[in-house]
Amino acid sequence: MNPTVLVIEDNAQNAYLVQVLLQPHGYRLEFAEDGSRGLQMAEVLRPDLILLDIQLPTMDGYGVAQRLRQIEVLRGVPIVAVTSYAMPGDREKAIEAGCSGYIEKPIAPETFAAQVAEFLGAAQRPEGEA
Ligand code: MN
Repeated sequence: MNPTVLVIEDNAQNAYLVQVLLQPHGYRLEFAEDGSRGLQMAEVLRPDLILLDIQLPTMDGYGVAQRLRQIEVLRGVPIVAVTSYAMPGDREKAIEAGCSGYIEKPIAPETFAAQVAEFLGAAQRPEGEA
């Protein structure tokens, strides 16, 4: 089964880069341009992983993560913040908001797909296994 990845990202170039880097790995990719659309799509699609931009219009990624975490059917789905915020505390803020981890922007083409696979693998591994 090909994992479904929901990408919540308002920047078309970043969305395109994610598509180019992940498509060869056989993921089913879905894109949302803002948080409210992302929330709707997440509930319907029940993706295996959510990649979440933090700098989004209207509702920022922290707010989106908090709301995603309130959706019962998404329990256990990793939410990975994709963020260029370099300020100390921003990663902690992402984790506090419910994110499982983060990937740094600018996206590194050499390592991005492996980072995504790692978050997916960690989520799908049975509990208790290393
Ligand atoms: Mn953005």
